[in-house]
Amino acid sequence: MLLIKNGRVVDPAIKTDTIFDVLLDGERIARIGANIAAPNAEVFDATGLVVAPGFIDLHCHLREPGQELSETIETGTQAAARGGFTAVCCMPNTTPVNDNASVTRGIVERAAAKSPVRVWPIGAASIGSKGEALAEIAAMKKAGIVAVSDDGRPVATARLMRQAMDYSNALGLPVIDHCEDPSLFAGGVMREGAHSIRLGLKGIPAQCESICVGRDVELARLTGARLHIAHMSTRASLEHMRKAKQEGLHVTCEVTPHHFTLTDEDVRYDSNYKMNPPLASREDREALVEGLADGSIDAIATDHAPHHPASKDVEFDRAPFGITGFETALALGFSELVHSGKLSLMRLIELFTAGPARVLGKGRKIAEGEPADLTIFSTDRSWTFRAADSPSKSRNTPFDGRAFRGGPIATIVAGRVVYSQPLATYSAD
Ligand SMILES: [Zn+2]
Ligand SMILES: [Zn+2]
Repeated sequence: MLLIKNGRVVDPAIKTDTIFDVLLDGERIARIGANIAAPNAEVFDATGLVVAPGFIDLHCHLREPGQELSETIETGTQAAARGGFTAVCCMPNTTPVNDNASVTRGIVERAAAKSPVRVWPIGAASIGSKGEALAEIAAMKKAGIVAVSDDGRPVATARLMRQAMDYSNALGLPVIDHCEDPSLFAGGVMREGAHSIRLGLKGIPAQCESICVGRDVELARLTGARLHIAHMSTRASLEHMRKAKQEGLHVTCEVTPHHFTLTDEDVRYDSNYKMNPPLASREDREALVEGLADGSIDAIATDHAPHHPASKDVEFDRAPFGITGFETALALGFSELVHSGKLSLMRLIELFTAGPARVLGKGRKIAEGEPADLTIFSTDRSWTFRAADSPSKSRNTPFDGRAFRGGPIATIVAGRVVYSQPLATYSAD
């Protein structure tokens, strides 16, 4: 048994923000309340810390199988644990693509052997994510997928998206789309605008994303399926989401920490500023922060996209898209959203817990009988992120060396402390 003492328990699912103890018994939460006595339990002193439900990341790339130079399930999930995540959903664009049950089983087995956190795979919507024929969604569901997506690229055609939605809907799975119109994308490397012109880099217009979001919303209306928009980055996409939600369609969306933190004005000739969707305009960033605050956006997701140094250390045009994200996600939430007064702490926690859980059709709360997954963090401890210290195999982040106030202290999965900062103190009875 593990007794978390004197933490500030903040959980939007049970509408609690109180100093409580939480007693874990094996893989489940046994009790939550004031002054719990458990003489034989190991004690974790959470005085001055926040105790939240375990964080869920809806969107990451663990690169295994096939791209182990950049990341493995083991190294990626160690970085996830350091970031406070207790469960991560890994996208299917591995080599081979996770488009059939044997690849899904391989990921699940590897995670069971090597991962400190829960790994919930996402299966491809189409075979090879090529956008031609539907993948074996039902067989992958049996093997453990929690959603389908062709992330890395959009679901190629409206017809295929309709089929994917119909099949997934019958199976109770959401379809996650990386929204992009390939004909507008057309070899672009950053957001089109004054800054792409100044840098002489080929631009991608904002409509590249929102046109595809509009298509998908129309198909969600047609099929009644659950649609989730990955890494949404523009005001126009958010407006599509708001209208669809008002209509009662089953649509949800996520935003990445880099899109609520940086803009196209931050882009320089450094491939750590190259991601897809590209960093958006200042107006888009402001709209996303409003959407995070008012409930229009359901989750913060990292889109952790590791690339080994040799592949990123090339000219901007040639570098692959994507940055790592697990270890800076919560701290960026503090600096950009909570310390700046734009979001409450409760709302930020919701975006990492109940919000993403709802997207997957799961629950997430601190209550008796629930899985003993908790994220413990400080809201004010000063620290500096050093990419070199990360267990990830990759270093591609624009946030290396950034000073933060507040960050993860301990990550508990199924009753086990899988990561803790030295600051946390333990005493065994
Ligand atoms: Zn994507
Ligand atoms: Zn992605």
